[in-house]
Amino acid sequence: MFDLIRRIVFWWSYPRHLPHPASREFLDTYEWAQVRYQVLLKYRDKPCMACGCGPKQGVWLNVDHIKPRKTHPHLALSVDNCQILCNLCNKGKGNWDSTDWR
Ligand SMILES: [Zn+2]
Repeated sequence: MFDLIRRIVFWWSYPRHLPHPASREFLDTYEWAQVRYQVLLKYRDKPCMACGCGPKQGVWLNVDHIKPRKTHPHLALSVDNCQILCNLCNKGKGNWDSTDWR
């Protein structure tokens, strides 16, 4: 019930100029860049939260949406819905899983 209310409030206040949270274009927005940066500050120096690999092992790290943007667009700009995953773990997770690795 609260999730439904959260979704309604989200879409009510979602800026019209922003692309849909599940779109590729969303990742190029200033709003997402700000959230992404806050997550990087929060988890500074942390390796991939799933496998433990980091830049020393030659992997790229991504800021991942724990609950996918496709199914939970209202959480797309929530720092609390983000974790750090390497390229491979992020690719494997896709948008079908919502495991919190933190
Ligand atoms: Zn990983």
